Parts: sequence; C-alpha cells; structure tokens
Amino acid sequence: MDHRRYAVNVRSPAMIAAAGILLLSSSACLAAQPAEPISKERIREDVRVLSSDEFEGRGPGQQAESKTLRYLVSQFKAAGLVPGGVQGTWYQEVPLRRFDRGPDVKVSLKQDDGTAVPLKVGEDVTLSSHASGHVSLMDAPLVFVGYGIRAPALGWDSFGAIDLHRKVALVLANDPDFEATPDSPAYGKFEGKAMVYAGRFGAKVAAASAAGAAAVLVIHEDAAASYPWRQVANGDRIAGMELASADGAGSSTVISGWLQRDVAVRMLRNAGLDFAQLKVSARDPKFRPLPLVGVALSADFTVTVHEVTSHNVLARLPGRSRPQETVLYGAHWDANGKGAPTPDGDDIRNGAVDNATGTAELLEVARAFARGKRPARSVLFIAYTAEEKGLLGSQYYASHPLYPLELTAAVINLDPHVMLGRARDIELVGGGRTDLEDDLAHAASAEGLRLEPEPHPEAGWYFRSDHYSFSIRGVPSLSFRIGRDIEDGGLATGTARADDYNVNRYHQTKDEFDPQWTFEGSAQEASVAWRVGLGIANSSRWPAWKPGVEYAVLRAQSDAQRH
Ligand SMILES: [Zn+2]
Repeated sequence: MDHRRYAVNVRSPAMIAAAGILLLSSSACLAAQPAEPISKERIREDVRVLSSDEFEGRGPGQQAESKTLRYLVSQFKAAGLVPGGVQGTWYQEVPLRRFDRGPDVKVSLKQDDGTAVPLKVGEDVTLSSHASGHVSLMDAPLVFVGYGIRAPALGWDSFGAIDLHRKVALVLANDPDFEATPDSPAYGKFEGKAMVYAGRFGAKVAAASAAGAAAVLVIHEDAAASYPWRQVANGDRIAGMELASADGAGSSTVISGWLQRDVAVRMLRNAGLDFAQLKVSARDPKFRPLPLVGVALSADFTVTVHEVTSHNVLARLPGRSRPQETVLYGAHWDANGKGAPTPDGDDIRNGAVDNATGTAELLEVARAFARGKRPARSVLFIAYTAEEKGLLGSQYYASHPLYPLELTAAVINLDPHVMLGRARDIELVGGGRTDLEDDLAHAASAEGLRLEPEPHPEAGWYFRSDHYSFSIRGVPSLSFRIGRDIEDGGLATGTARADDYNVNRYHQTKDEFDPQWTFEGSAQEASVAWRVGLGIANSSRWPAWKPGVEYAVLRAQSDAQRH
C-alpha cells in the first residue's frame, strides 16, 4: 500500500482522542496507523506451521493432507472468504494414481565388450515407471537421439524414421540452443538461451514415447538440467503420480529416468564415442539417431499402483459488480512429503520455501483482499495439490474449472524459490508473453522494486509451475519471484543464497523452516502480487497475450465471450 495513504489515515478516532493531550510522540502515531496490508509476521507464522514436522512435508494423499487442508480452510474462513469449491465446499477432489517402486531394483548396462555393469539406482541413474506390476527390460539396445525433439514447424526431427520399439532412447538435456555458438548451423532456432518446452524432461519422454521407445534416459548435466545431480538423485526415492484420468494405454515407454553424466560419458567412450562431439552433432538440423553398437540396458523391478484422492482448496471473494469474472491466485500446498529417509535419517521433505512460502503468501493476499474494499471482479484463491508430481492439481482444475476459464481474467502464481531478505528487484519468470507484465512492472515500482528478467531462462521455470496449466489453455498468467539484489549484501549475496538453496535444500529434507528468516522478501512478493491482482480485479480490461505467443490462438477462440 502506498505510504501516502497512511499519512491521510492518521486521523483515526484513537488519534483524535490522543490529540487531546496535544503532544503526540511519533511512536504513538505509528501505533495508531492501520496495519500494513501484507504482514511478514503472518507469513512467517503460516510457513512455520505448514513446514513443521507435524505436517509431514504435505505429501498429496499422505496422512497429513487432511491436517493441511483443515489449516488452509481455517485461515481462509477466518479471513472472511467463502467456499469456492464443489457444491459449496472448500474443495475440489483430484483423483490421482501413485506408482510405488519396490525395493529390489536391478539395472545394468551391457557394454560393447559384452560385460554388464550394474548401475546404482539413486546414484548412477534414476528410474520411474507408470507401469503396473513387474517391469522388465532385457538387453534393450540404446539409441542416441540427440535432444529428442520433433518440431516439424522448425524443420527439426531428432528421431527421423528410426524404429525405437524395444529400444532405449538416450537423450541430451535442454534444447539445441543451450550450448549453441553463433557458428552452430541452427543457432537461435530454439529461442536462444531460454529453454523451450521441448527441452523439458517430460516433453522428451513424451516425444521418445511417441517414437515408440521402451525406455528414455536423459543424460544429466547440472547446467543443462538446471537441477544439480544430488537433487535429481534424491528425487529418485519419491513416488511418481499422474492424474487418474491419464490414459497411458497408448504409451510404449515403461521406464524413464536421468543418467548421471560421468556414467554416460564412460559408456559412450567404451562405445567409441565422444560426448562433446555427439552434442555438437545433435545441434545440427541434419542430425539423425545413432544406435550405440553393442550397448544395451537391462532393468527389473516391480511397481505397485495406488488410487489416491487428493484435493485442491478453493476460497472465493465474490465480486461487487462483475462477479462472473475472476482473477485467480494460486499456490501449490503440496511438497514432497514423508518417504524414504536420506542418509542422515530425515524422512520429511518439509517444503518450507517450496511451497509453504507461496501458500502463506496466498493466504496473506486473501486476507488483504478480504479486508479491503470489495473489488468489481471475483477473486478466487486456489491452493493446488500435487504440483510437485507434474502440476497435477492445477491441470485438474484447468480441465475441470469451477469458474469459466474464458472469464478468468488472469492467473497469478505464487511459487517462490528462495528465501531472500528485503530486495531491490523482482524477477519475471518467462517474460515477453503477456501484457500482465506491464501491470507487474507498475506494481513492482509502486513497491519500490525494479522488474528484472529471470536470470536463468535456460532452466525453463516458466514450464515448471501451476500457471503453465492455464497458459496452455489460453488464460493469461503471471509468475514472478523476489529478486536476488537484496539490500543486505546485494546481488552477490542473493545469488550465493539462491545457489545454496538450489543445491542443498530444494526438494530435499533440508528445505526446513529457519527462525533467522526475515520474510521481508516474501512480504514484498505478496505485496506485489496483491497489487497486480487488485488492479485487474477493479478493471474491466481483459489482459492478453502478446502477438505471436502460441497460447493466444486458444484465447482468441473465446474472445466473443469477453466484453
Ligand atoms: Zn514449487
């Protein structure tokens, strides 16, 4: 909130009464001022509670889900919002399927000389499968398919006419522009440094699966994957999920995973191939798949499938004059839950930053709206489930919306990434897509913050959180996070803190509440979010995609419904 407004509000009844004594100390003045719309102390308290061990890391469908839901509902209710879910409830059920891999996993790589080298799962390789029962692959030949991208519009086809049936697709992380140099034959074709969606792990698995592959292994490199190996390897212990409605019947791929870089380099060397050379060849549009002579993968394990019902939590503030129009705020309540312990014996991935913080900010923005003058449009707050399993809760809502997506003016996502102190900038994730970015720039400047592009667009963050579920359905969406240029130490300190978080805490048991956190950056994040949405909720403008952005086509189909 603008500080000038406090100056006007200073004449509260208490102040006028106090003025009877004529001499007002400045501290008395401060005490009588209205509270800040966003309180870092309330954010702290919500984060502390949600990330405590009692909440067991908020795994969807796990024991502590009901406790998490009750807490969120109690906070929304106390703020004065009404239930926004199905049939007057606070919930939308999200039917899921969980895949539990059995403990006896055998994986080995047969080399050119006929020897089989066992691979350690969770150290050399990660494995997941959406199959059911006994999964077995015997001596499946490996084929190097470059970046594993089929993009006819770009004249790109990593697969060509190869038959990948019963074979393993070996794929590079990221996209051909990631390490391209100006002399690369296709330099700039894949949006330069920023990752395109086809560069994501899931997109590669889908593409290789469509090409018939029985398994997909993506070669892990820290920079290209943007997740350090330790974090990927830790993730191997976490059960995968999909929407129960997902129909995998047509999919040939039974195994997908990451292959640790050194293991891949050694294997390629044994097959007479040079990893660096292969990467260069994969950046050429003329690249064609390369079978690795004599190299084959065997894997054997069991998968038990469980049906799980999880929940999105929805709270609403009906609009004053155009209640059928919606501004949607979202944050995922889930983290990676309770599971296999890490070597230090901790079995709870508390998700204090990711995403107790975003969830706490969502609650705080909801309180700010509920306390203020009722906006023209309705404001919907959704705490999504199962984001960590692949944006499942938001995907479910976006394909089963309770308020029409055609009349959803904007989606604002709260999924911050690092706990930072008070900052001088805010980072826009995946910029250049919608005019909401101008609203964000204004809101940021009103909060005294500079808007900066995200520093690592090659990490593909735009595709990695719940707003993306709405973008692909045409709804203009916005994602941002507090910047690294922090007041206490500047960019160097902020970047060091972000790097430390990424390597040592993100998605791990160490993403735990720290009493030292000031929550200043979180409050800035929430303030900006509140301000952006407030503007749109009181406007009759329909935010739009920028010309040429792929999601604009779908949005245009419902233009007639928006006046
Ligand atoms: Zn997150």
